[in-house]
Amino acid sequence: MYNLHSHSFLSDGVLLPSEIAVRYLVKGYKAIAITDHVDYSNIDTTVAAIVKFCRKWPKKYPIAVLPGIELTHVPPEQFKPLSKYARKKGIKVIVAHGETIVEPVIKGSNRAALEADIDILAHPGLISDKEIMLAKKRGIFLEITSRRGHSSTNRHVAERAKKFGARLILNNDSHDPKDIISTEELIKVGIKAGLSRKEIKDIFTDVGNFIKKSKGR
Ligand SMILES: [Zn+2]
Ligand SMILES: [Zn+2]
Repeated sequence: MYNLHSHSFLSDGVLLPSEIAVRYLVKGYKAIAITDHVDYSNIDTTVAAIVKFCRKWPKKYPIAVLPGIELTHVPPEQFKPLSKYARKKGIKVIVAHGETIVEPVIKGSNRAALEADIDILAHPGLISDKEIMLAKKRGIFLEITSRRGHSSTNRHVAERAKKFGARLILNNDSHDPKDIISTEELIKVGIKAGLSRKEIKDIFTDVGNFIKKSKGR
């Protein structure tokens, strides 16, 4: 089980990356990504801190911690340069903050993010079929989330992604200890979105392969 979307106090989460890693380890996760919110104001310091933390995380613990970021509320034209910069500095998991219906995200963000070098489009809201097809073409994961508010369009995302064969991922988008749910609770979020246990198993296999690949990059 994996979760590739979590926030530490390097942005608006309440825990240090170390405590996040330990809490996910105890819940039985095999890999996580720390993906704090960034834009041009904080990308240098946040990327440096997360990359350093992940490099220092001891390999002997049975949880891999991948360095990530979430490009959040950035003007759509900035997805490309910011993702390019993060990649160059050692970031392995790039999440883009999609057009959730519960926040005023700039229209066109889903599309611009899918055209950039990102890995996951988080909470993409009422994403269009055209954008779903672009995600499929580019191999970008569309997120099913346990986060309240953002999760209100999970069924739409799951149904359209399945129709077009786009990749899906289940994430926690955790900010504090109560968001670090058990693996079974995360599976239930998938079931509520209309996925079968078999489909959820296949999603985790696919995400596992992505993690293997990105660790070697
Ligand atoms: Zn946040
Ligand atoms: Zn987030």
